[in-house]
Amino acid sequence: AKERGRQRIVLFDPSIDARQQQRLNYEMGLREALNKDELFVRYQPRFEISGRRIVGAEALVRWESQEHGLVPPDIFIPIAEGTRLIVDIGRFVLEQACHEAVRWAEQGEAVPVSVNLSPKQLREDGLWSDIQRILRESGLAPNMLELELTESMLVDNIDLVLPLLQRIRALGVNIAIDDFGTGYSSLAYLKQLPIDTVKVDRSFINDVPGSPEDETLLQAIVSMARSLNYRVVAEGVESEQQRAFLETLGCDELQGFLLGRPEPGNMLISQVIRAREG
Ligand code: C2E
Ligand code: CA
Ligand code: CA
Ligand code: CA
Repeated sequence: AKERGRQRIVLFDPSIDARQQQRLNYEMGLREALNKDELFVRYQPRFEISGRRIVGAEALVRWESQEHGLVPPDIFIPIAEGTRLIVDIGRFVLEQACHEAVRWAEQGEAVPVSVNLSPKQLREDGLWSDIQRILRESGLAPNMLELELTESMLVDNIDLVLPLLQRIRALGVNIAIDDFGTGYSSLAYLKQLPIDTVKVDRSFINDVPGSPEDETLLQAIVSMARSLNYRVVAEGVESEQQRAFLETLGCDELQGFLLGRPEPGNMLISQVIRAREG
């Protein structure tokens, strides 16, 4: 009760700055967002490196607030992560994504779906059983689901995370490292973990080709990841020059505005079907 009283005082304290106030407003809005159906999921296609075929899709959550309009995930995810809200939001996205991927498969195109996990979800007890239940209820084949975790999540509490990842992977679900290269871990270290895919952060891709330093760095990351037998995905690919360069490095897949933006699930699958029918 004391906690709550204190929170209320903070809420109306005129001395707190506008950014903090905005954050609290968003947090209050987010508490209602699920009930009010303000959250939904977009899917960004992942292409084989030639750019010719869609081989996956990443689920990205969106918040269209009645009060605040469309709030970018870079803003509201960190706020949700500061509370338990991220656990409910994460479960919602997982449910949506699995059901969507089943609809794709029913249309004759099985496209694997990737879902982002946040650190709080890993620390929450119910994650494994949520995944298992959602797979069962949706009927999605486990190998059609991939979970994306950032490096720091894997490094910060390895004793807790390793057994959990092993149990999740035992279900048949794939594991990807997201934003790779932005943390401080080495691939040799990550090799101990059950990981299938490395997603190279777009900051390494922005300035290639053209910046010799970045080219060297990117080449080193990709060749090491390949030598460890990871599937290598380049993120944030915006130009044909970048795509071609990544192809020479031996990247397996790419994701980025060059070939596809996040879109509704039914639009993604019609694109896949059109491509099949040529
Ligand atoms: P992320 O996981 O690294 O997702 C990729 C982000 O890069 C997406 O932004 C996507 O729209 C953007 N992107 C893709 N291709 C390009 C490109 O070619 N150029 C540029 N400039 N950007 C590109 P989005 O959808 O705004 O998501 C931002 C971040 O929010 C995500 O980064 C992820 O960390 C987080 N997020 C989104 N959805 C979820 C979710 O369901 N759960 C959790 N925990 N986090 C999420
Ligand atoms: Ca991601
Ligand atoms: Ca990423
Ligand atoms: Ca990111």
